[in-house]
Amino acid sequence: MTEPLNILIIGLGLIGASFGKAIRHQGLAERSVFVLGYDRSQGVAEQAVALGVLDQAVTDLAQLPRIDVIVLAVPVMAIGAVIDDIGPLLGSLQALTDVGSVKGQVVRTVRERLGVIPACFVPGHPIAGAEQSGVTAAKADLFEHHMHILTPLPESDPAAVQLITQLWQAIGADVVEMSVERHDEVLAATSHLPHLLAFSLVDTLARESENREIFKYAAGGFRDFSRIAASDPTMWHDIFLSNKDATLKVLRRFQADLAILEQAIEHDDGDLLHTVFTRAKSARDQFTQMLAERQKN
Ligand code: NAP
Repeated sequence: MTEPLNILIIGLGLIGASFGKAIRHQGLAERSVFVLGYDRSQGVAEQAVALGVLDQAVTDLAQLPRIDVIVLAVPVMAIGAVIDDIGPLLGSLQALTDVGSVKGQVVRTVRERLGVIPACFVPGHPIAGAEQSGVTAAKADLFEHHMHILTPLPESDPAAVQLITQLWQAIGADVVEMSVERHDEVLAATSHLPHLLAFSLVDTLARESENREIFKYAAGGFRDFSRIAASDPTMWHDIFLSNKDATLKVLRRFQADLAILEQAIEHDDGDLLHTVFTRAKSARDQFTQMLAERQKN
């Protein structure tokens, strides 16, 4: 009988624990999986076993059974230290992947720490998430009908890419591939900039304590726009400092367009406002339709 595929998840927060829960529920068609997990905080891995996230908790990365796949699910800036810890294991792995929201910085870190990109390394990023964090936020269906972006490198072994693809497909993700540079540009525009705007708007409105009073009168628009400002500050601190160039580029383009709207309001240029809002509404309507179709498939 084929031995189970031993998967080690390092970092048992929202993403790592959701991956564990999902892969234990769904399994793989051709091979059973055994899910192990490690977290720097004492007790979290045992809690993950109790919550059905893991088959086995690992308390010491220096004392591991045979591991086939490692999934790194820690904040982007914590990856370097974890790579140092798992370095000795890399030679015998079938695949190593991560879930970091920025890919260029992760690839640079791996290359700096190891001197090379190991053939087993296949960087990845699930386009799914939530504002909650920690092991108790884990959801087995978090990745269903969501895209998972892989950014394989010239050094990546095709067998490792195939295995990581199978794992994410098994839990319902739609796996796509793109370059590291393209990933960081696209995500700067569609995820990083919106988070920056939400953090900034909520901070501007809430900074003066008397201003908090105005939240009482806020309705759907503010609720929808500000939801992502409840996201984890450490994770987002890491993302902005790690994806500086792409974020600054799209932020500056946005600031220029915002200045045009400011001028239009100041000079009563209703035509311009109407043109921009109509164009934006049409793009948003198209996006709504795309989301609905993805949910159906
Ligand atoms: P999370 O719920 O806060 O979990 C982070 C995990 O990493 C926790 O287990 C935490 O340990 C551990 N950790 C934090 N700092 C560490 C350090 N310096 N060294 C070792 N371990 C450390 O975060 P998450 O949302 O799962 O995010 C994990 C990764 O997924 C990040 O790289 C993020 O960019 C990416 N991601 C997040 C989302 C999202 O929406 N949240 C979506 C896609 C990708 P403790 O138990 O001690 O806190």
